[in-house]
Amino acid sequence: MQRAIKILMACGLAAAPVAAIAAQTMDEEFARHVKDWTTRPEFVSPLVDHLPKSESVPSPKQVLGHEIGEPKKLDYYADLLKYYRALAASSPRVRILEIGSTEEGRPNVVVMLSAEENIRNLESNRRNLAQLADPRGLQESAVSALLAATRPIYHLMGGLHSSETGPAEMLLELAYRLAAEESPLLDQIRANVIVAITPATDPDGRDRYTDWYYRNKIDDTDDLDPVPDAPYWGKYIFHDDNRDINYSGASARELLAYYLQWHPPIMHDLHESVPFLYTYSGQAPQNPNLDPILYGELPWFSNFEMSQLTKYGMPGVWTHGFVDAWSPGYVGFMSSNHNGMLRMYETFGNAGATTMLRHVAPVPGAPKDPNRPDQTTRDWFRPLPPYKEVQWSMRNNTNYMETAALTGLQLTAQFPQVVLQNFYKKSRNAIESGRSEAPYGYVLPGDQPDMTRVAFVVNILRMQGIEVGRATGQVQLKEGAFPAGSLLVKRNQPYGRLAKILLEKQQYPEGELKSYDDTAWTMGLMAHVQVVESADPKVLDVAAEPVEHMQPAGTIAAAGAGSYAVLDLGSPYMATLRYRLKSVAVRVAEQAFKSGDLSVPAGSFVIDGKAYDRLRPQVESLGLRAVALTSQPQVPMHAAAMPRVAIYSTWGSTQNVGWVRYALDQFEMPYELIFKEQVRKGRLRSAYDVIVIPSQGRSARGLVDDLEMYGKPLPYTRTSQYKYLGAYGSSEDIRGGMGLEGLLELRRFIEDGGTLITLGEASAVPPEFGLTPTIEVSRPSQKFYAPGPIVQAHILKMQNPIFYGYTSADTTVRWASNSLLQLRLRDKDRVLMEFPGGEKNVLSGVMRGAEEIDHRPAIALMPSGKGQVVLFTTNPVYRWQNLGEFRMLYNAVLNYKNLQ
Ligand SMILES: [Zn+2]
Repeated sequence: MQRAIKILMACGLAAAPVAAIAAQTMDEEFARHVKDWTTRPEFVSPLVDHLPKSESVPSPKQVLGHEIGEPKKLDYYADLLKYYRALAASSPRVRILEIGSTEEGRPNVVVMLSAEENIRNLESNRRNLAQLADPRGLQESAVSALLAATRPIYHLMGGLHSSETGPAEMLLELAYRLAAEESPLLDQIRANVIVAITPATDPDGRDRYTDWYYRNKIDDTDDLDPVPDAPYWGKYIFHDDNRDINYSGASARELLAYYLQWHPPIMHDLHESVPFLYTYSGQAPQNPNLDPILYGELPWFSNFEMSQLTKYGMPGVWTHGFVDAWSPGYVGFMSSNHNGMLRMYETFGNAGATTMLRHVAPVPGAPKDPNRPDQTTRDWFRPLPPYKEVQWSMRNNTNYMETAALTGLQLTAQFPQVVLQNFYKKSRNAIESGRSEAPYGYVLPGDQPDMTRVAFVVNILRMQGIEVGRATGQVQLKEGAFPAGSLLVKRNQPYGRLAKILLEKQQYPEGELKSYDDTAWTMGLMAHVQVVESADPKVLDVAAEPVEHMQPAGTIAAAGAGSYAVLDLGSPYMATLRYRLKSVAVRVAEQAFKSGDLSVPAGSFVIDGKAYDRLRPQVESLGLRAVALTSQPQVPMHAAAMPRVAIYSTWGSTQNVGWVRYALDQFEMPYELIFKEQVRKGRLRSAYDVIVIPSQGRSARGLVDDLEMYGKPLPYTRTSQYKYLGAYGSSEDIRGGMGLEGLLELRRFIEDGGTLITLGEASAVPPEFGLTPTIEVSRPSQKFYAPGPIVQAHILKMQNPIFYGYTSADTTVRWASNSLLQLRLRDKDRVLMEFPGGEKNVLSGVMRGAEEIDHRPAIALMPSGKGQVVLFTTNPVYRWQNLGEFRMLYNAVLNYKNLQ
C-alpha cells in the first residue's frame, strides 16, 4: 500500500520540469568540462549538463580519474568493473550479479540499479517477472495484483561492438546518476524501474580495442583518413557477435541464461554508427511471428525519444529508415524473441575518444555507397536532420546517448504497468497462438541416422528456454508416424513463437523490401536435420518427458572382434574421432559395403580390434556407432590422413576466419593460423599439406591486397604497455596484404603438391589471380538479390570423399557468394556440386533472380601441378549455423590425398 502511494507521488512529480533541482550541490568543474568538450551548445541537454556531488557515492572521476567524455580517454574493462563495484559498495541502490566469464576469463556481470527498496526486493521481483513470462497456472484474477507488485527491468547493454566505444563510457555516468542524483526524473525512474546494465557486452574486445586505440588510433582527427580497426575484438567473431543466432560466444550465452532467469521486459542495445542518434522503430520487413503489440511498442518509445530530444534542441535525432525487424539473430533480440522488447540506438561515434571532423553528408566525388544514403536530409522520420559536416566529440556522443537513455527510462517509469501488462499479454498470446493456430508443433524424428546433429538443434532450443519433450510412445499424427523417443516441440508454451521462428521456413515478403541481415536461418535445413512441422493439434497431447539437455549415447559392439567399423552417418564428430585416435591407424572405406546383415556406408572408419579400448570411450562419448566386422571389407580403403593444416587470415577482415576457427576448435581439428608474414616467407609446402582460405575481404583483390600500405606502420604485437594486442596472431605492421609475392608462394605450394581450399568469396581468388586460369568468374546482374537464403544444391559426384556422410544427391546449403564460377565445358567433370537454380530451389528466405545461378558450380576441384585447388562457392562453415555443411570442409581436409 505504502509503495502504491509512493508511486503516485512520483508520477505526480513527473509533471514538473525534468532538469535537476538545486537540492544537491552540483559539480561545477564537471559542468565546465562538459561545456568545453561539447562541440556545439545544442549538442547537450538539461538532463546531462550537470552532475550532483554526493557525500557517499563516488563519481566516475573519483574512481577513474576522469570525467566521462573527456577527449582521448577510454577505460579498460577492469576499470569499468572497478567503478561499478565502488558504486555497489557505497550505495544500497546498486547490486552486482556475477553471471559468468568470457573466453579470456574476464568476469561477466550485470549491474542492477533502482530504489533501495526495489534492490532489497530483487529476488521477489525476479520471481514475479518469471510468472509474467510464463503465465501458465497464473489465475487471471491474480494478474493485476502481481503486476502492481512488480517493477519492469530495463536492461541496457553497451560495448557489444568494441570500436563503438561510447556506450560503455556513458553507462558509467548514467549509473552514477541512478545511484546519486536526486531529481524528479531520477526519483521516478528509481521508484518504478529496475535498471540493469551490461558494462561491456564483449569484455575481451573492450580491452583489445582500448589498447589498439591508445597505440594506433588516438591521433585520428579526420574521418576521411582514419586508421583501420584492430584485427580482433574478442577471440573469434568480431562484429558478428551481433549475428550469433546460436550463441556460440560465452558472453552471449551467459547473457541469455541471465535473461531467462531475470526476464527484463526491455533490453536496449547501444551501438554507434549513423548520425547523430537513431532510435530503432522495428520497421519492415518485420518478423510476422512476433506479437503485433511489439510493433506498436517500438515506435511508441522511439517517437517519444525523438520528440523529447528534439524539444531539448538537439538536432539529428531520428527513427525508422535504418534497421528492420526481420532477423532474430541480433544478441539483444533475445528479448523480442522471448516476448519482451529489443530496443536499439545507433549514436554517432568516432571509434574512439578523439574529437574528429566528420563528413556527415556524402562527400562530393566519393563513390556512391548504397548502404550509406544521405542521412542529413529531412524526411518524415527525420524532421530535424543531422548537420552536413561537424566536429564531433566523445562528450557529444555521451550527451546524446545518455539523454536518450534517460528518456527511454522516463517513458518506462511513467508507464511501468503498461510495459508489464504488454509483457504479460505477449507471453499469454504466445501460448494461446500455439494452442489455436497451426503449426501446433514440430517433430524431430527419433530414428534419424545421426542423432548428434539432432542434439545440436535440440540443445540450442533448450538454451533458448524452449521446452522440448521426448515422446514416451509412438507418435501418430496426420503428418505420419514417428517412433518413441522422437523429440517434440509443442507450440503452446511461452516461447512457442520463437520455436516457430527458428524451425519454420522463412517466407520473405514479396516486393522490393531489403533486409538488414540474413533472410533465412531455418535450423533443420541448416543442420541437415529432419524437422516435421505439424498442423495436427493432437501433437499438443502427445505424452512426452521433458528434455533438459540431449546427449546421444554412442554404441559399440562387444570387444573381441578382429576389426570394427565406425559408421559414417554424417556426424561432424567423425572428424573429432579421427584426431582423438591420433596414433591409431584409421582406414576409410571408399564405398559402402555389407558386413553380415549390416550396411556400412562409404566414409566409415575401419579400425583394428586391438584398438578397442581406445575406440570405445570415444565412440560412446561422441554419440557415434561402431559395429564389429565379420571379415575384412572387400572395398577400396585409404588411410584417414591428419594433414598439417593452415588457415589463412588477412589482418583487415578476420571475422569469417574466426567462424572457421571456432568450428574447427569445437570439433578439435588442429590447424595453424597464418597471415601474410608466413605466406610471403614461402616454403609453405614443407610446412603444410592443406591451406584453407576462408571467405574474407570485400573482393578477391581485397583479400590479396588487404590493408593498404598507407600512413604509419600499424603494429599488432604484445608489449608490456599493450598487453592485449598480439593475440591470435601477431604482426609488426598489419598493412600490406599477401600481395603478388604471397600469391606466387601459394602457386608454388599448389605446384609442389599442396591442397588449397577456398571458401565463399575467397573462391574468386584462384581464378582471378591465375591459380586456376581456366575458370572464369562472373557476377550476377543488378537485380539479383540474395541476402543469405537457403537453397538446394545438387551433388554431381556422390562418390567423392567430400560427400562422405551425405546420403542424398540433393542437399541444402546456405547461399554464400556472388562470385559465380564457370568452368570450361571439357572440365565439367571437375564440378562436384552445383546449384540447380530457379525459384523452386530457394528453400527459405529470398533470392531474387534465382535463375541466374542455374547450374553454376557450388564446389569445383582443379588439379594444378602436383597439387589441387578445391573451390567452394558455398561457405561450408557459415557462422555457427550450417552444421549440415561442415562435413564437406572436414572431409576435404581429412581426405585431401584422395579427392581426385
Ligand atoms: Zn554496432
